[in-house]
Amino acid sequence: MFDQLFKDIALNATANDVAGNFPDKEFMCMAVAGLLKIVLPGEPLDFNKASTKGLLHLLKNVGGANLSVGRIYEGHINALQLVHAFGTEAQKREWYAAAANNKLFGVWNSENENGVTITLQPNGKYTVAGGKMFCSGAHWIQRPIVTGKLIAPGKIGWQMCILPVEKLKPFKEDNSFWKPMGMRASASFKIDFTGVEIGEECFLGAPDTYYAEPYFNGGATRFAAVQLGGALSIVEATHHFLRQQNRAGSEQQKARIAEMAMLAACGNNWLNSVAEKTEKWRNYPATNEKNMAYAGIVRTAIENICSRILYLSGVCIGPIGLMQPNTLERLHRDLTFYLRQPAPDAVISSVGAYLLKSEKIKDAWD
Ligand SMILES: Cc1cc2nc3c(=O)[nH]c(=O)nc-3n(C[C@H](O)[C@H](O)[C@H](O)COP(=O)(O)OP(=O)(O)OC[C@H]3O[C@@H](n4cnc5c(N)ncnc54)[C@H](O)[C@@H]3O)c2cc1C
Repeated sequence: MFDQLFKDIALNATANDVAGNFPDKEFMCMAVAGLLKIVLPGEPLDFNKASTKGLLHLLKNVGGANLSVGRIYEGHINALQLVHAFGTEAQKREWYAAAANNKLFGVWNSENENGVTITLQPNGKYTVAGGKMFCSGAHWIQRPIVTGKLIAPGKIGWQMCILPVEKLKPFKEDNSFWKPMGMRASASFKIDFTGVEIGEECFLGAPDTYYAEPYFNGGATRFAAVQLGGALSIVEATHHFLRQQNRAGSEQQKARIAEMAMLAACGNNWLNSVAEKTEKWRNYPATNEKNMAYAGIVRTAIENICSRILYLSGVCIGPIGLMQPNTLERLHRDLTFYLRQPAPDAVISSVGAYLLKSEKIKDAWD
């Protein structure tokens, strides 16, 4: 349905591969195509319907066109899913209208030193202090969900806030932090929110709702879908390179292309399988732990698939293929960087812990 749009986005990806750039033309076209509102009530991938499969494959296709666009788009979808799950009716009306009006959302949680605090003041307002890193989309995001430690009598925990950027004191953005090997156009800068004042109407959910399952760990399947899209583009570009360079003749090249095609099929099967289980387990809180563990398996399997594709492609094309102006140079850098998502060790160890509590592995995902 969006084939031409994704082709255009892919064509512009190399030109946009500059730290500090943001893919604004791409998001304008995606807005026109209805992609910023596609999960809202009544839209084709309405969260109230069994839309997981369509959504994961859409994220895969956006990532396949340009991983930086995929990263920012995944943040937009993540934020809307959190609004869907935890917003009050009034908040849903307001924030869905903003998305329908093509306001871009994001989720900014990662921090190191100087983390965010949200402190109640005597006037009933809250002041934000501290900052975040890896704020994908930076000032181009108009409705970021920013998390932080809530400090108010009787209300302690990790609070999500949706910030109506244009109504607030400007944030201090630090793009000097952003010198990545890949994903340059995701504009994942550092931002300091110190001095911003908000009202409680900006709070999304109660403190610690951000960690509620199956949303928190289950969400990993969305970034895995985007990653898979990047890997499938590498498979296609490698196949094209071998045919174009007349390097497809050896038995080893044939075997590597066959293995890459098999890995691509496995990746798609993982997306289909997790989508099917998500729909089956939806609305059954008792399945949350199983759901979380399965998402951990899918995320890890797709990371392994992508890593193996990167290796096979690199051996197939050699250093000439990994040099500019060949697009495989950027595709490899982007995927290598985007594969680094939080807590890979903790996730796989929690899957093992879940399975060791189960009687048998073969029944674990029923
Ligand atoms: C392109 C890109 C865009 C991003 N955009 C966003 C965004 O918009 N919003 C956002 O919130 N985040 C974003 N992130 C950040 C991302 O989600 C993670 O938060 C970030 O990767 C964490 O990096 P880290 O190096 O601190 O830790 P990790 O990646 O978690 O850890 C690195 C390694 O150290 C291990 N490790 C971690 N802790 C320990 C420990 N205590 N002891 C031993 N080993 C440990 C891990 O298992 C892993 O092997 C983005 C990341 C990328 C790459």
